[in-house]
Amino acid sequence: MIITIDGPAGAGKGTLSAFVAQKYKLAYFDTGMVYRAVGLQMVLNNVDLSDVKYAEKTAKELTFPQMMQLAQNKDFRSDIGSHAASVVSAYPEVRAALLQMQQNFALNPVFADGTPANGVVYDGRDTGTVICPNADLKFYITAPVEVRAQRRCNDLIKAGFTTDYATVLAEMKSRDERDMKRTSAPLCKPHGAVEIDTSLKPTEQNMADMAKIIDESFGF
Ligand code: C5P
Repeated sequence: MIITIDGPAGAGKGTLSAFVAQKYKLAYFDTGMVYRAVGLQMVLNNVDLSDVKYAEKTAKELTFPQMMQLAQNKDFRSDIGSHAASVVSAYPEVRAALLQMQQNFALNPVFADGTPANGVVYDGRDTGTVICPNADLKFYITAPVEVRAQRRCNDLIKAGFTTDYATVLAEMKSRDERDMKRTSAPLCKPHGAVEIDTSLKPTEQNMADMAKIIDESFGF
């Protein structure tokens, strides 16, 4: 059972993916994490993010446990990590280097503690188009950029970062632009995906709607 959940930053994919993974006892793969790891590693090594060769080398060399280690860094989810991920993820060489690792996860999906799972929920930008084009069910989660920026701003402030709405909105617009206009695996609604605008209903209702679609689709 493979479910893909794609969409732009701040749309609420993480919350909805975690809900789906927990409810249907599926493993969860946050694909943004692999790009954050590569980007942050370059930041930590003081390498300019425009160095494509270095980014490719980093993507080829980083192991999954090393990525998990990087995920503990305070800047992994900050604007520094988000910006770095957005820049390196636009390089086709980086995407190619990280493709197999992401696709392999569906062959033997495991929970965080290593126990086997019966399927996987992929969360990202290209999971329904490139990583798993044959997924059993695809969702495209979105919301207007202003709503997404406000959510992200609230989350960052709650996590102790100093920022403001205008800064987050500008950064989110440029991330959207990079994600949607890059030549390799641009963010778009996968063919056949169910679209959900998370600004229209409360989160609990979006969860219930997704569960209904999953139940119907898999005959539960
Ligand atoms: O989802 P998250 O915000 O952690 O992703 C960080 C960045 O990684 C995104 O802004 C996007 O540029 C990139 N990304 C991607 N393809 C994915 C997941 C994330 O290009 N499947």
